[in-house]
Amino acid sequence: MASPSIVWFRDDLRLTDHPALRAALDRDEPIVALYVLDEESDGVRQIGGAARWWLDGSLGSLGERLAERGSSLVLRRGKASEVVPAVADEIGAGAVFWNRRYGGVEREIDATIKEKLRADGLTVASFAANLLYEPWTVRTQSDKPYGVYSPFSRAVQKLPAPRAPLPEARKVPGLSASIDSDDLSSWGLLPTEPDWAGGLRETWEPGEPAAKARMREFLDDDLGDYSTYRDEFAGGATSNLSPRLRWGELSPYQVWHETLEHKGPGTHAKSAAGFLSEIVWREFAWHVTFHAPDIATKNWRREYDAFPWPTLNRSHLEKWQRGETGVAVVDAGMRQLWKTGVMHNRVRMVTASFLIKNLLIDWRHGEQWFWDCLVDADAASNPFNWQWVAGSGADAAPYFRVFNPETQRKKFDPRDAYVREWAPEHLGDNPPEPMVDLGETRKRALDAYSHVRHGH
Ligand code: FAD
Repeated sequence: MASPSIVWFRDDLRLTDHPALRAALDRDEPIVALYVLDEESDGVRQIGGAARWWLDGSLGSLGERLAERGSSLVLRRGKASEVVPAVADEIGAGAVFWNRRYGGVEREIDATIKEKLRADGLTVASFAANLLYEPWTVRTQSDKPYGVYSPFSRAVQKLPAPRAPLPEARKVPGLSASIDSDDLSSWGLLPTEPDWAGGLRETWEPGEPAAKARMREFLDDDLGDYSTYRDEFAGGATSNLSPRLRWGELSPYQVWHETLEHKGPGTHAKSAAGFLSEIVWREFAWHVTFHAPDIATKNWRREYDAFPWPTLNRSHLEKWQRGETGVAVVDAGMRQLWKTGVMHNRVRMVTASFLIKNLLIDWRHGEQWFWDCLVDADAASNPFNWQWVAGSGADAAPYFRVFNPETQRKKFDPRDAYVREWAPEHLGDNPPEPMVDLGETRKRALDAYSHVRHGH
């Protein structure tokens, strides 16, 4: 009698370097590939609109590729702690495999499921696949988690090199009997009225094949320019791999090894090191989040709880969200975000700094807007970076660092290419006026921050 294996896919929508799938293949029994849309478990952060759009595309692609390999993707909706054991029971599974996730609530859910399935006599195993270093393995000499990037980065460099990626699964033997699956379209992940996803469709093709193609293209064409041009708003020298890593269409192991193996001329080695240090920032954000799972709602530095946020000015927040602040780079960035689901890293910093410091709006409002609009919205990187800008986060920018959007524009968009693309009215004869005075609001921010510093 067959005793099928379940591979529970989560943020790892790929067939290459997928240790859970590899374990199932090694077990040599029919495989059920399962994805659960869990909108019911308490405390699981619901994904935003742009992320839902991406998820729909990426699941569609994964389903097609599994079908080509002899299996199918089974879609179910509900509490994971109920659905996974129910599917195991339904098919008489002998084993369940998954790649680990690192959010607080998610880990609790996974532990509960593991315990239940094991009590029922099933084999259950989980694997490291989405981070290069398991968060509990990187500790300071006094056995604490790192709160500062540089020593963290030095510490991980001393660890054994990340393992080589596993090969792509070419065949995935499925069950001979058919098993119920929801229709992806019945999940309503895509917007209907209004259909705001036109810009996303123009910009992206979710799914593992497009992810691999972009990685190769980046390494061949752009990596050499990365260290020189990565900060230019319109430079196009960065990888655009963030949604691929967020959804696990690529693993960090693939990105790591392909980058190191890729040889190129000139500034290549320096660029490769700079690029990989960003991958380590991603690790750092997740390690910090592992140890502070409430990072999206609570100040990482608790002394910032004393920050005197004024009553929320909703009309200011909306102007920022719509890109109608009258500040060129902020307007350009917010519109790029709305249309394409991403924003250049440095512009993310500038727009976040403008909201928090010039408008004195609590970072959580900005974080939530990004969460809703980003296709790479990541449960660690997004709140981690918002808190970095706010000053309340790990290894954060000092509180007195208020980005000046005009200085940033001169430095990183010297020919106005970015502003021309996203907010051209700022280049016309009657450019809009900034909604607030940058100098005065900067002073007001510093006054407010002094409450934190002095602990009033
Ligand atoms: P590249 O420069 O090519 O970098 C390669 C990879 O390294 C990225 O794909 C990403 O996975 C990782 N990386 C780069 N910078 C960072 C960083 N500062 N923190 C963590 N990982 C990093 N990144 C997200 O993936 N999801 C988010 O939700 C997110 N929210 C952010 C919010 C704010 C306010 C700020 C300032 C930054 C945020 N970032 C987030 C980090 C960064 O802006 C994006 O990862 C980057 O712009 C993606 O573009 P890229 O893939 O071309 O980056």
